[in-house]
Amino acid sequence: MNPFGFPVKMLIIVTLAMATLVTGCAKEKEKSVSENPSAQTGTGSCNWVAQGDLPVVADLDDRLAGYIPTELSPDLAHLDATQVEVLEILVAASKVMNEIFHVQATPCRDDLAARISELPADRQAAVQRYFRINVGPWDRRFHHEPFFGTWPHPEGANYYPGDLTVEEKAFVADDANGMDGLFTMVRRDESGSLRAIPYSEFFADQLEKAASLLNEAAALTENASLKAFLEARAAAFLSDDYYESDMLWMDLDSIIEITIGPYETYEDGLFGYKAAFESFVTITDPAESRRLAKFKDELPWLESQLPIGDEHKNMNRGSESPIRVVDEVYSAGDTRAGIQTIAFNLPNDERVREAKGSKKVLLRNVMKAKFDQILMPIAEKLVAADQVGDLTAESFFLHTLWHEMSHGLGPGKISVAGRDTEVRLELKETYSTLEEAKADAMGEWDIFVLTRAGKGYFPDTIYREQAATYLAGLFRSVRFGIGEAHGAANAIQFNYLMEKKAISVDETTGRFSIDVPVFEKVIADLVSEIIMIQAVGDYEASVNFIKQYGNMSPVLAEALEKLADIPVDVEPIFSRYED
Ligand SMILES: [Zn+2]
Repeated sequence: MNPFGFPVKMLIIVTLAMATLVTGCAKEKEKSVSENPSAQTGTGSCNWVAQGDLPVVADLDDRLAGYIPTELSPDLAHLDATQVEVLEILVAASKVMNEIFHVQATPCRDDLAARISELPADRQAAVQRYFRINVGPWDRRFHHEPFFGTWPHPEGANYYPGDLTVEEKAFVADDANGMDGLFTMVRRDESGSLRAIPYSEFFADQLEKAASLLNEAAALTENASLKAFLEARAAAFLSDDYYESDMLWMDLDSIIEITIGPYETYEDGLFGYKAAFESFVTITDPAESRRLAKFKDELPWLESQLPIGDEHKNMNRGSESPIRVVDEVYSAGDTRAGIQTIAFNLPNDERVREAKGSKKVLLRNVMKAKFDQILMPIAEKLVAADQVGDLTAESFFLHTLWHEMSHGLGPGKISVAGRDTEVRLELKETYSTLEEAKADAMGEWDIFVLTRAGKGYFPDTIYREQAATYLAGLFRSVRFGIGEAHGAANAIQFNYLMEKKAISVDETTGRFSIDVPVFEKVIADLVSEIIMIQAVGDYEASVNFIKQYGNMSPVLAEALEKLADIPVDVEPIFSRYED
């Protein structure tokens, strides 16, 4: 699972309940008709761009204010000259990922951008900036509605011709026709028939350039695991076979870590087949990663402590997946558009997951930026004055980390009436919401139980720090909308904790308090209720639980109204590398 985008960027994405992207929710069909159906392997005719008026949404300035420009460049003083040079080359390769993603996301992007110059001079810069954030004229926060112009967003982005007929969509959907490849673009040939073109061919110029940069960095680095990955990934760019390099990515053991290539399929809102190019260039924190390795060793003990009958505990769940804490040096492509990722879980290739698990990567400086720019301002409006001082960036980080760890705890494979099945299959469309609520609540429970047991990982101040930070985090995540699993999961927690008196509101100030001892007890009750529903695979109970708690209560709605002038996300600035 992977969240992070607005509604779901599944990178892992896990998302961590925190950020999510809005993809896959385009409501309108591409209505424009290519005027030149014989356009071959390019993006087709762009004549449609010249049509239509150029209205700009009235609240553009407010929408822009939702993204606060934030410098993310981490300190590189501890790197040697070779490492710094390797980073520069990897950033150059990442800029190629931007170029490719822009083509994947937006048909006729350059023509669309050119029309900004027809706007009144004093509006051009604002539209340009929002166009850059959204990689096109459609607002990723608002279901891809146009914020500039009237062109409807093509559901299939630019992966498919914009004028697919109903019959052609059925043809593409039929996996016997070979249009569903993860690494192909679908275009018309000279006769107008659909053809799937491998990325290595469609993006040959860009991928050859990126491969050559990766090989250049591989020749320079003194780290054997990084060298092996870069060489294999360079070869994959030219062969479309990513398996070996995905395997090597799992083995990276280097100060410099890079995740680069085609990964997530959310941008393809039509079928979800096509992988979007992106890149995370990062530096790892070895001391922090060692600390996390110790946390991972506690997972079997935590499973044994779960507030549920022993017969429902799953003591055989593997915990092989590595965890990395990194600082983002540069990001590009899919992940750079719209809402920023704070953690991800890759690769998606099930063969790699079978063999080596998957790697959870936590982007510490991105989390810190969101804590400073968004979570603290929210707390200053909504958290009781005597608890605002308890918020810490470390608690926000720990919440995200233990949310991820908790996805690996509790019922997974279950037995219902003697039948072997999985929680996911039994709870159907309610699964994600319940699972995200579980991961959030259990994340807090994990920290408390470990501390109560005297494991020595956290100071005694952790109880009130986690509580206050968690409280503010509920408002932050509900802002992403309860129509989406992470938002609904946070509404469930808020309403449950209000009902059980762990959270209360001061009617005169409108600020919320969290009662720390009550919170510690009630969060265990919440974990228990959720994992019991999961353990017995009770679909009806899951539906009812979400109906009871996963709603926008009046007190919650009123609180959110006070956050209108607080940014929704950061817009990353990497001034060291921007041109
Ligand atoms: Zn999650």
